[in-house]
Amino acid sequence: MSITITIDGNEVEAEAGSTLIDVAADNGVYIPSLCYMRGRECLGTCRVCSVKVNGNMMASCTVKVADGMDVEVDEAESKDMRRALVEINFSEGNHNCPSCEKSGRCELQAVGYEVEMVASRFPYRFPVRKRDHTSKYFFLERDRCIFCQRCVQFVHDEETGKKIFSISKRGTHAQIDIDVELADKMTPEQARKAAEMCPVGCIIEKGLGFNDPMGERKFDVKSIRERALAGEEE
Ligand code: SF4
Ligand code: SF4
Repeated sequence: MSITITIDGNEVEAEAGSTLIDVAADNGVYIPSLCYMRGRECLGTCRVCSVKVNGNMMASCTVKVADGMDVEVDEAESKDMRRALVEINFSEGNHNCPSCEKSGRCELQAVGYEVEMVASRFPYRFPVRKRDHTSKYFFLERDRCIFCQRCVQFVHDEETGKKIFSISKRGTHAQIDIDVELADKMTPEQARKAAEMCPVGCIIEKGLGFNDPMGERKFDVKSIRERALAGEEE
C-alpha cells in the first residue's frame, strides 16, 4: 500500500512498512549509518542514523514508515546527536587514520567527514585490547572495533551455520573474538567479504593494505553518501 510521509517538509510516496532509512535514500536524503546494511536485517547497534520522527529521536533503520509520518533529518538537534554518536566511536577506540590500512575504505572515517566531525567532544579512552593475528586470513585489530555486530550476525561457517566472530566480556572489557578453526576453513573470497563487511579497520585481510594510492581509494572515488543514495552495499 502506498502512503505519504514528510521528510524535511517534502512529501514523499513510500510503500507502507518500508524502512525509513531506505525510503529517505530513495528520495535523495542521506542518513549516515555504521551498522546498517541495506537489504539485511537491522542491527540497531550504532544509532548513528537517528532522526526525529513525529518529534521523537529514533534510529531510522528501526522505523517502518506509516502514513502521515513527519521526519526531520536536516535539523539541528538530530544532526548534533548523529555527530556525537560518531565522536563516541572515535573516543572509545584507537583510531589513528593516517597509519590505518582501512583509511579511505573505512565507513567510520567516511561518516566522520559526512557529519563534519573535527574532534571528539568526549575524552579519549585509548583502550588496550590485545591484537589477534592467529587466523590464516585476518589481523584482528581490536582497538578499532566499534561493536556494530555485522561480523557476528552476518558471517557464518557455510557448512554448519556457526558464527565465526563473537563478542566476549562486557562493558569496557568487551572485545571481538574469532573462531580460528572455522575462520581458517573459509575460502579466500569468503574471507575478503568478511573483512569488507567490517565498517572499520578491525578485521583486516592479511596481505591487503595501502594497496590503492590516495585519490583512488574506495571513498575517494565515490563518497559514502553517493553510495548510500545509490543503494549500494558497503
Ligand atoms: S578504522 Fe577507520 S576511523 Fe579507525 S583508524 Fe582506521 S581509518 Fe581511521
Ligand atoms: S569487528 Fe568490525 S564488523 Fe565486527 S563488530 Fe567490530 S567493527 Fe563490527
